[in-house]
Order: sequence, then structure tokens, then C-alpha cells
Amino acid sequence: MNETDTPKKRSFPFSLAIIIIIIIFSITAFYQAMNAYLSPSPSPAEGNYFILLGIVGLAMSAYMLLRTRRVAPQISLETQRVSTTILCEKCGFKKIQPFEVGDYIIKEVEPCPKCDEKMMITSIYREENEKEKR
Ligand SMILES: [Zn+2]
Repeated sequence: MNETDTPKKRSFPFSLAIIIIIIIFSITAFYQAMNAYLSPSPSPAEGNYFILLGIVGLAMSAYMLLRTRRVAPQISLETQRVSTTILCEKCGFKKIQPFEVGDYIIKEVEPCPKCDEKMMITSIYREENEKEKR
């Protein structure tokens, strides 16, 4: 049991689960079609209907699969987290908060909760995700 492929697990998209469900429905539809054709009292109209349903389902899942593949790189860019470190020069109080637009190094921010001195942004960095940390 070697858990080296965690990045793969992390990128497993929710839409893929939906695609799998649609594929299962399509297979069920084909199975129903077969039953309709091969039953003691065959009903080809019903069989044709289920086959159409199955084909539509498979086409839909194929289309969705192509779409998710194209969207995936954009998602991974959006999930990057950037943090800002705020430091009080006087007492050394340190605070880390999510990066906000307009943050820059040596910018003066809110006063220190300990000594009321003006605090300063000392660093802005991108948080490493699980994949890079490994
Ligand atoms: Zn302070």
C-alpha cells in the first residue's frame, strides 16, 4: 500500500463522478433495450427508445469528459494560495493572513494587538500545495 499517487487523488474532479453515473445509466439503457428485443413478447419500439437513450448518454459523457480535460489546467491555477506575513518590528509579533490585492512588502498595515505599534508586511509567498511538498 504505497500512497505515492495522492496528487492524482486530489485532482479527481467531481464532474468525473457525474460522467461515470451517466455511463452507468447508458449501459443500463442498452441492457433494457436488449431485454426488450429478446423478451418472449418483443417490443422493438421500446428497444429502439432505450438504445437512443444509451447513445445520448454516452455522447453526453464523452462531451463532458472532453470539456473537463480542457478546463483542468485553469482550476489548478486558481487553487494556488498566496499568504502575507505581517510583522511587528517592535515586539516581534507575527501574523500570517491570506494575500489581498494591494498587499506589498514594507506596506504598513493595522496596529499590533500587543504593543499598538504599526505592523508591516515582511513577506508575500505562495503556499506550496501537497504535490510540491512531497
Ligand atoms: Zn508589537
